[in-house]
Amino acid sequence: MNCNECNLVEANKASGLCDRCEQIEMTKINDVLYLPALGLIISLLVIPWELYHFTQVIFSYLKHGSFLNSYLIGAMGCLLLNFLITLYASWRFFMRKKGIRKVMITYYIFSLLASLYFTVIPTMLYGIQLKFTDLGNVISGIIGVVIWIPYFLLSNRINVVFTK
Ligand SMILES: [Zn+2]
Repeated sequence: MNCNECNLVEANKASGLCDRCEQIEMTKINDVLYLPALGLIISLLVIPWELYHFTQVIFSYLKHGSFLNSYLIGAMGCLLLNFLITLYASWRFFMRKKGIRKVMITYYIFSLLASLYFTVIPTMLYGIQLKFTDLGNVISGIIGVVIWIPYFLLSNRINVVFTK
């Protein structure tokens, strides 16, 4: 059977691809790397929505003539910074840029810190009960740090895929 991809030469049995196409396949964002890719895309969709929500909260504060508290100002700063880091990480990731390790580690650490900001501080300051989605954010933040940071540090594929 010929290679599934180029159909020019005999394929290796395990992959259905020839040696050359196997090499090319190795440099693509695929398999396990779909998961961090999906994580970045979800963050890029969710953070603007959160920014919109907090902007509305801040406007309603200002409309009622109340002063903005430091939690709200911090929340805005946290979201903006998180958005910029996610944008930058996504650009580096999808362009398969070199030095992705530092960028992704920063992204995962900051995502966790941001999720803690939006859960621990309101609980401590205002005794607000955590919602199911808040817990989900913290858990995905922890997964990022515990699973994906070691993956980016240790996986050999990172050096093959992110070379530009
Ligand atoms: Zn081939």
